[in-house]
Amino acid sequence: MTRIGFIGLGNMGGPMAANLAGAGHTVQVFDLVAQNIERAIAAGCIAAGDAREAVTGCEVVISMLPAGEHVRDLWLSEGQDLLAALPVGALVIDCSTIDVDSARQVGEAARARGLRFIDAPVSGGVAGAAAGTLTFIVGGDGADFESAKPLLACMGQNLFHAGTLGAGQIAKMCNNMLLAIHMAGTAEALALGVKEGLDPAVLSTIMGKSSGNNWSLERYNPWPGVMENVPAARNYQGGFMTRLMVKDLGLAMALAEHGHSAVPMGALARNLFNLHAAQGQGGRDFSSIVELYLDKQDPA
Ligand code: NAD
Repeated sequence: MTRIGFIGLGNMGGPMAANLAGAGHTVQVFDLVAQNIERAIAAGCIAAGDAREAVTGCEVVISMLPAGEHVRDLWLSEGQDLLAALPVGALVIDCSTIDVDSARQVGEAARARGLRFIDAPVSGGVAGAAAGTLTFIVGGDGADFESAKPLLACMGQNLFHAGTLGAGQIAKMCNNMLLAIHMAGTAEALALGVKEGLDPAVLSTIMGKSSGNNWSLERYNPWPGVMENVPAARNYQGGFMTRLMVKDLGLAMALAEHGHSAVPMGALARNLFNLHAAQGQGGRDFSSIVELYLDKQDPA
């Protein structure tokens, strides 16, 4: 069994740490939010007073934080010098979705300290994190990917090596840009049919067995009342926050600029999710984008 440090116990990190503890590993956890630590303790993890205490003596450390600035702050801030708290040869796995430069910066700093590093962003949502069925998309040395596999398999079902350091993030950005596009498209198609009198559940079933089928429709239906156990069934609480999707679309746009790639659909999706976030919806699940398409009552 492995001694693992786990930093960041939010919507995703919480259930991921719980699955590692459930598999019998010793999991030392830290988060800035006390309630998240308490939930992890209830799932069999060991609380640490700060990030340094969480990673001390660990062979593997996993971070699951919102964005690149949080990951850089955690791993590169001089005052904390977290990398120095790890034994030489330890493996750092960052599962956050962040910009490629930050992933490479942290990876190179870790390597300079005699540590190993892989970027390992995930796909599959909160339900996948809870069920241990996530997809891991890894960038880094092939040998480090191989050695991480048994632990990643406690949290996920599909493990992919995308390429060298940062490649996991590039693949993840391509995926999330596509996700944003088919979520917005699914919401738009459902709203069109419902406005013409169709039942959203019937329309979902029809499109799900037709050429319009996609993950947003089939597994994460945005229309309330169509599916159980998705954010639309609980007023879009939990899940993947709109502000995180806006962040990911920003990362995809930066990538497109870097390579002079044309991404007109991605740019449009980014504008839609940005507009939605600007209307105060940043903290709700991204499938609440469907509300942009609903008729609002005229003020009396
Ligand atoms: P979240 O906001 O729910 O969780 C982030 C956690 O990090 C919070 O609990 C926060 O308190 C903690 N944190 C921030 N800075 C910290 C620090 N310095 N030390 C310790 N803890 C710190 O976000 P999430 O939904 O869990 O997403 C995490 C990452 O996973 C993001 O990069 C996101 O884009 C990605 N992701 C999310 C989903 C999803 O469906 N939610 C799916 C795939 C990938």
